[in-house]
Amino acid sequence: MRLLFRPILLELCHPFRLATGSRTHTNAMLTEIHFEGFVGYGEAAMPPYYGENHETAGAFLKRVASVLDKFPESLSQGLGTGSSIQIIISELDALAPGNHAAKASVDIALHDLWGKMEGRPLWQLLSIEPDKMPPTSFTLGIDEPAMLRQKMLEAADFQIIKIKLGSEDDRQIIRTIRENSDKPIYADANQGWKNREEALDLVQWLAEQNVLLIEQPFQKDDLDSAAWLTARSPLPIIADESFQRLADLDHMANCFHGVNIKLMKCTGISEGFRAAHAAKAKGLQLMVGCMTETSCGILAAALLAPLCDFADIDGCWLIRNNPFEMPVLENGKLRLSEEPGLGLKSTSVASGK
Ligand code: MG
Repeated sequence: MRLLFRPILLELCHPFRLATGSRTHTNAMLTEIHFEGFVGYGEAAMPPYYGENHETAGAFLKRVASVLDKFPESLSQGLGTGSSIQIIISELDALAPGNHAAKASVDIALHDLWGKMEGRPLWQLLSIEPDKMPPTSFTLGIDEPAMLRQKMLEAADFQIIKIKLGSEDDRQIIRTIRENSDKPIYADANQGWKNREEALDLVQWLAEQNVLLIEQPFQKDDLDSAAWLTARSPLPIIADESFQRLADLDHMANCFHGVNIKLMKCTGISEGFRAAHAAKAKGLQLMVGCMTETSCGILAAALLAPLCDFADIDGCWLIRNNPFEMPVLENGKLRLSEEPGLGLKSTSVASGK
């Protein structure tokens, strides 16, 4: 078995401005696991605010081969029911803390490999019901009205607009959208709101503008303010930066209405599913999100979407240099492929190192 990986800079179609900063590229690592003539594809997408980059991911992935070599039997048995993958990811967790996206790149590649060895799409192996796929939103970064209007044209195939807030004038951004579209909106403040009362005023106004949810209003560690707003908000308040992994869920139920699960935060599909089921058991609403990612990460995240109330899995529509074919979008919903594994088709051959 061979693990190959190569760094790639994902070029964003537009500079992406959030409350926390602006960027034009996202660091990513593309992984491949080769075994018995099959190849599983994975991806680590690493926006700057989570501390991973090409160097950290490369250093971590160099250590992963020794872990994979311990599991040749489960691999030759087709990775069992997927529980073997969970055991492997637990071993990766024991290798080093953090490195969540790098771990996810291994988890996703193992899942894709599993599906290909079984000759079945992953959604079938994981008992996912494709007809429960929610529509995905299309994300617009913070921008001037003229650029927002242009970006909205790019959102034409999507039923829902996600807009980044936490700007100097959030109401103006929403007014600009509403002058051009009556599509429902997901609003993401990315920790950008500072004042509880002002936030509540804004949320009440947003509720009148057909905004359906608010992501991450305050700093990620300010759970008291999140709980204060959640207790009063007419809209669901969803944790994103405050929520990374399954173990964080205990803190979430009292502070938020729901959580945004992202594979790059929670080490991949295995833990993503466990987190989704655990969050539902706690009565939390569920969103599945993404970074700016290739089709690989997006199709992996799409497996979780039918379990979720909200999906924001548009990352591959926001980049120029996706090395895979785009997923199929039908009425604003991702279609899960009938092909084995994730159903990825490469448009450029990955070279390992
Ligand atoms: Mg977010």
